[in-house]
This record gives sequence, structure tokens and C-alpha cells, in this order.
Amino acid sequence: MRRIVIIGAGPAGMAAAGVLAEHGERPILLDEAERPGGQIWRTPSPAVAADPGRVLGRTGAAEHVAGHDAFAAVRDRVDHRPRHLAWTVQNGEVFVARENETRTIPYDALLLATGATDRLLPLPGWTIPGVFSLGGAQTLLKDQGAAIGRRVVFAGASPLLYLAALQYRRMGVEVAAVLDTTRFAEKLRAMPALARTAPRTLSRGLGYMAKLRAGGVPILHGISALAVEGTARAEGVRFRDASGAEQRIACDAVALGFGLRAETQLADLAGAALRFDPDFRQWLPAADAEGRCGPGLYAAGDGCAIGGAEAAAISGRLAAWAILADGGAVVPGAERASLLARLDALRRFQRGLTRAFAWPAHWLPDTPPDTILCRCEGITLGGLRDAATRPLGPRDVNRAKALTRCGMGRCQGRFCGLATAEALADTLGLPLETVGRLRGQAPVKPIPLDATLAAEVAP
Ligand SMILES: Cc1cc2nc3c(=O)[nH]c(=O)nc-3n(C[C@H](O)[C@H](O)[C@H](O)COP(=O)(O)OP(=O)(O)OC[C@H]3O[C@@H](n4cnc5c(N)ncnc54)[C@H](O)[C@@H]3O)c2cc1C
Repeated sequence: MRRIVIIGAGPAGMAAAGVLAEHGERPILLDEAERPGGQIWRTPSPAVAADPGRVLGRTGAAEHVAGHDAFAAVRDRVDHRPRHLAWTVQNGEVFVARENETRTIPYDALLLATGATDRLLPLPGWTIPGVFSLGGAQTLLKDQGAAIGRRVVFAGASPLLYLAALQYRRMGVEVAAVLDTTRFAEKLRAMPALARTAPRTLSRGLGYMAKLRAGGVPILHGISALAVEGTARAEGVRFRDASGAEQRIACDAVALGFGLRAETQLADLAGAALRFDPDFRQWLPAADAEGRCGPGLYAAGDGCAIGGAEAAAISGRLAAWAILADGGAVVPGAERASLLARLDALRRFQRGLTRAFAWPAHWLPDTPPDTILCRCEGITLGGLRDAATRPLGPRDVNRAKALTRCGMGRCQGRFCGLATAEALADTLGLPLETVGRLRGQAPVKPIPLDATLAAEVAP
């Protein structure tokens, strides 16, 4: 039997493991999390027993249950290893940390289903306590049944703002406002194409907005100059509304959502080529439609191309079939073709959404220089700009990292890397893709020193 390793037990990894198990394989499914589910199908902590139905609403809960039921049906044929953090991939082996130990897992086929995390926009006050990423705010709610504050502002450029705000309201939290940096006209322009590709998803999204409005939540489109106020804790947000008037809203917590960034470091370390995607403004693994990235290397879900939960599950199934087909198995042709068509539609939908909720790169020239860019190393936007405009200053992000330490801290640039590239390109007046991307570095996430040392002495 071939040794098939999947990293990530979200919708993509769970669906792939299911297909492989149904075809007689016993895949190893690694995830750093305690329970399967990934971001969207996150299983609440049993200690707090947050009710997923209450948080997610009827449709979300039905999908959540269906995803977990399908996985439960194959569970005994999958070698699921929770709390296993994959921290690098080298020469056909995955390096995994579990508590203070490291071990290596050799593979014949590796499927990366590592998902995505929030994308950061440097703005004044984003590091003040009480400011969370949108995903962090959602994770706390789904996992622990806890809220980030009592009166929360949701701000940024993302369709998930509306969903998360609604989830908070369902849990009884006051939503002070939803502040959307994109203009309503941009969303209207995107609507016909979105309605053609995934009408149900679009109407669900419009439903979230309508429910918030019906509940009296102020929704402002086209806001700018956003800043969080407060010292020991967030006390409010300041911004300009679409007419240019200054406004202030009091709150005790802020959830910032500026889209997603794919987790691509392991793909990079495993040898996949990455290509620049102008819509998502980031570098993604160069994979074929079924997720092949190289010999024995596959990618699925948001870590391959940001597409949402249904696309993640479909791409997981397709990647599993690709692994089986590359091993000589016969895979179901008709189902494969229909899933490929559905995946294409869902990814086009996501692309349309990404254009409608564009990352506000045009804010950068007006962002104050003392705004933190890299919070691990305390590097400001002004610090990067100064370095970039000196004679022989850096013209690519890896050089900028070496000269400024931006992206050199605990997060390895996973959070500030894209913003650093945007800021560098903006300062130098260069197209974003020309300043490159931060190279993947091991360990991709912080691990105990003991685990690193154990890896160095291992034969
Ligand atoms: C923060 C956040 C909130 C979201 N909220 C919503 C929402 O409310 N509604 C919605 O429709 N969509 C939401 N999305 C999008 C949706 O969650 C994704 O489209 C979907 O979950 C993607 O599935 P996936 O399997 O590709 O990745 P994920 O569900 O992200 O799963 C990836 C898994 O990989 C694991 N992993 C990653 N790196 C490693 C590693 N190095 N070692 C071990 N394990 C690793 C993670 O622990 C995780 O369990 C959200 C996305 C994010 C990032």
C-alpha cells in the first residue's frame, strides 16, 4: 500500500481522506488542531459545548453536520493524527511536531490541504488589545462560544464580515456597525456575474446583509481612513464615510477582515512552483485542475486556490482521485467531469467576490508612517519605506526582510508578508508581482525548541 499523507483536516482534507478510504487506502491525516473540521466545520470544544446551530444558522449547521457525518463513516479507515503540526517538508518526508517531540513521516503521495488565514492590512491601532482578525473572532465564537467584546465593530473588505456579524448577533452580542471599505457600486457591478456562477451563495450573502439591516445594524459602504482608538484596549473606531465626513463609533472590540491568504509555505518547501494571481494579489501553488503540483505532490482547498468550503471539499475529492489515478487506479469519469465543472464555477464566483471586495491597496500611500507593519519585530510602515528609498535599498521582499527584519519574527512573515510586499511595491511604484514573495522557511509555525533539536540529531 502506498503511503499517502494529507496535511489539514478541514473540508478539503476530510473529503480527500474519505475518497481514499473508500478506495481501500489508509491515508495519514495530520492536523495541528485537536478536532477535525478546519475553519468552517470547526468542532466546538466539548468543554464549552457551543451550539453550532446557534452560531452557524440552519444552513451552515446542516453543512457542518453533513461534512462530519461523511467523515465519521470512514473514520476507522483513516489514520487521523490530531495535534500534529507539520512544520516542514524535505526529501519526501513530513516533519511533524507533537508537544516536545519531532518525528518524520515519509510519503509516496502528499496532499496539502492547509487552508487559509486572515489577510492583514496595516492601519493605525490594529495591534491594540481588543482588535481581532475576523477569523480569530469567529474561531473564538465557534470553538469556545465566547465573544471578543460586548459591543463590536466589524470592519474591512470581505463578504465574511456580514456572516460573522450575524453570527455574533445570534449569540446576543451588540454589533455596533459593519464598516465595509468597498463601495456598494462595486458590488452591484459584480452581481450579474456572481448570480450566473453561484446564485444560491449570492442570495445567501445578500440575506446576511438584509438580516443585519432588519436588526438595526448600521452598514456603511465605501469607508476610508480607518483607525482604531484606545490605549490599553480598543475604545472606538474613526473613519471617513463615503461622503468624506469624519465619523467615530464607540466599541470595546473590533474584528478586521481584509480577505484571506492561502497557507502556501509547506507547498513552497515541498518544491511546488508558486504563481502570482492578480485577483487574489498573492502567490498560489501552480496546480492543475485536480491539484497536481509535482511528482507525488498535490494541493486542495483554500491553500491551493481560495474558493470557500464547497470548493474545498470538491477539490479534496478531485485531488484524492488524482492520487488514485496516478497510482494506476480507475476513477469515476462522469462524476469527475461534473465536479470539475462545479469547482470551476465556484472558483470563478470566488474570483468575482474578490474583485468586488478588493483589498484596499490604494490606502497605503495615506497610511501614517508610524503604523505597525510587522508586529513580531515592531517594524513600522515608515521603517520599511525609509529602507526602500535609500540608495541601493531593497527591491524585493526577501531583501527587505534581510535589511529591516520585517517578516523575520515568530510568524515567519505568514501574516505581514503580503502587506510588506504591497508596501514595498507601493513605495517603489512597482507592480506587486515584481517585488516577489517571502520564501517559505522552516518551521512554518512556532514549535518548541526541543522539537527542533530532536530533528537535528535524528539519524
Ligand atoms: C479564519 C477563517 C474564517 C472563515 N469563516 C468562514 C465562514 O464563516 N463561512 C464560510 O463560508 N467560509 C469561511 N471561511 C472560508 C472557509 O472556512 C474555507 O473556505 C474552508 O474552510 C476551506 O477548507 P480547507 O479544507 O481548504 O481549509 P481549512 O478549513 O482552513 O482547514 C485547514 C486545516 O489545516 C490545518 N493545518 C494548516 N496548516 C497546518 C500544519 N502546518 N500542520 C498541521 N495542520 C495544519 C488547520 O489546522 C486546519 O484544520 C473562513 C476561512 C478562514 C481562514
